[in-house]
Amino acid sequence: MSENILEEIFIKRSQQKKKTSPLNYKERLFILTQKKIAYYDFDPEKGKRKGLRGSVDIEKIKCVESVQPEPNTPQERMYAFQIIYDEGPLYIFAKNDDVRAQWIKKLKEMVRFNKDLMQKYHPCFWADGVWLCCHQEVKQAMGCKVLDSKNGLTCGRRLSRKPLPPTPTEEKTGRPLPPQPQEPSGPSVGMIVIAEYNYTPMTEQDLELRKDEEYTILEMSDTNWWRARDKYGKEGYIPSNYVVETENGLERFDWYCKNMNRSQAEMLLKTENKDGGFLVRDSSKAGKYTVSLFSKGGGETGGSCRHYNICTTPQGQFYLAEKHNFSTIPELINYHQHNAAGMVSRLKYIVSNRARPPSTAGLGYGVWEIDPHCLTFIKDLGTGQFGVVKYGKWQGKHDVAIKMIKEGSMSEDDFIEEAKIMMKLRHENLVQLYGVCTKHRPIYIVTEFLSNGCLLTYLREGLKQHPTTVQLLEICKDVAEGMAYLESQQFIHRDLAARNCLVDGNGTVKVTDFGLSRYVLDDEYTSSAGSKFPVRWSPPEVLLYCKFSSKSDIWAYGVLMWEVYTLGWLPYERLSNTEIADQVPRGLRLYRPQLANEKVYSIMTTCWHDKPDERPTFHELALTVQDVLYELQ
Ligand code: ADP
Ligand code: MG
Repeated sequence: MSENILEEIFIKRSQQKKKTSPLNYKERLFILTQKKIAYYDFDPEKGKRKGLRGSVDIEKIKCVESVQPEPNTPQERMYAFQIIYDEGPLYIFAKNDDVRAQWIKKLKEMVRFNKDLMQKYHPCFWADGVWLCCHQEVKQAMGCKVLDSKNGLTCGRRLSRKPLPPTPTEEKTGRPLPPQPQEPSGPSVGMIVIAEYNYTPMTEQDLELRKDEEYTILEMSDTNWWRARDKYGKEGYIPSNYVVETENGLERFDWYCKNMNRSQAEMLLKTENKDGGFLVRDSSKAGKYTVSLFSKGGGETGGSCRHYNICTTPQGQFYLAEKHNFSTIPELINYHQHNAAGMVSRLKYIVSNRARPPSTAGLGYGVWEIDPHCLTFIKDLGTGQFGVVKYGKWQGKHDVAIKMIKEGSMSEDDFIEEAKIMMKLRHENLVQLYGVCTKHRPIYIVTEFLSNGCLLTYLREGLKQHPTTVQLLEICKDVAEGMAYLESQQFIHRDLAARNCLVDGNGTVKVTDFGLSRYVLDDEYTSSAGSKFPVRWSPPEVLLYCKFSSKSDIWAYGVLMWEVYTLGWLPYERLSNTEIADQVPRGLRLYRPQLANEKVYSIMTTCWHDKPDERPTFHELALTVQDVLYELQ
């Protein structure tokens, strides 16, 4: 008999396989083994197991997630989770969040290579013939919420994200909202992580990270800097985005680029320009993996990229182009490093994005005032509203961009106060603020450096030759994700536009200059009648009453999408600011760019609803854009 992995008494909801069968809740003893999750009657007095009542084969499971409690749920049923398999969901209630998290985590780990894992699920219960989340009345109806972490795989870099606002369907219905979801199973003190990158301490309080080594997390009160212990017992602060929880075991391999999408992979492989260069990434289908391979042979000059899905046999084995089966992905990769077996080339060179560590929230734990003597200035990047922006190095090795604030251009004290808050904002699609130099004049703002510069220039000059629909949509997705994070932090950008986004070496787009417009001292910029006011990106309520909100950011996002799909045209090109300020409140809208299909254009137009409340949220936009991307791939 196989060994028991977990054992626990839970409350189980009856599955109502027939419509007439009653809904009831019974205590059962659940036992998890390698093959099955089985539940039994048990004797509460003697604590002994009795007859088997049912079981689910692990390989049939398609999704494991928590479920939001219904309103007025009794205490013992607050911590629900669902196991979805071909007969529908099995609802189980744990006695507390820890037990629930432990089971979800273990189950996700066990099902991660299952066939047909779901990409969407229902966050609320199926009850009385309706899904309480989206009100669909068919039990088989597709889920209404995209899994935050790919099914079975927690995204390391997203561990510290706050829960997002409710999904569209929850928000728009007239029924009472279910309570906010409990924090899903995620990182916790005591967990073991492995370092994806080396980290050299920047302050005395920091702890060195050595790539691929294990660390124990001791404290997580700051989301960006966790206190950790290494295997020698040394303790200190580490950047939380440099480590991942050991989950699928692939994190240890340099060829595994977890969060990379198709066009980023192509960009990286083309930049490396090595025949047989390859990497493995998460496929756009949740729970699946793709091998991206660059080859110089074939027709295209300069080489081309191919993408091969890693397939699974019904027995759970892996194979690529031809049927050479392996029980693990590393074995499969190892084989194809020596044999092309149906692909354009064998996998000759590992191309990894780990050569470049991501940015940290500040230059060391607790640092926000930067010593200007640690900065070297290398070249001018451009001039903006506050003056010159330079590229340079911090401590001779870390790339940074430095805004030198022209005296009289900014209300400095207010900004310096706010900078402490802005330092805490960290997201892969936001340009990271590293710190400020305020002890001398001019003051400096030091941020992450992005080598491909401003998005507007990139659209106009960098993408000229046949941008693909996937590329354009991925730009929009990056911006929507960054903005969804700002929205979740209740932070309003106020000047979102392609000129305020930057592009990094991998082609990832990040939003910058959020909130900065509040500190500009220049009437031409701050007054809505001024020549520098972003009239072309403003909704009626801003033009008429200067009412800024996340919804005015949404309007600007629609215009930014339009900039993306016209490859950087000026919105309402033929009109003056005064004409725009006059006509937009009366219903004038931008037309459909040639490169945008109806679906893409309809996303833009939802952002330009004259009633702010009718516009979507960034969270919704990010999901919609993601859905369109799925359809394209
Ligand atoms: P401001 O916000 O003060 O008006 P900008 O942010 O527009 O100034 O900066 C001017 C130019 O400098 C930009 O167009 C861009 O090309 C370049 N730049 C600014 N910040 C960065 C950065 N972090 N990385 C790379 N280039 C940058
Ligand atoms: Mg700017």
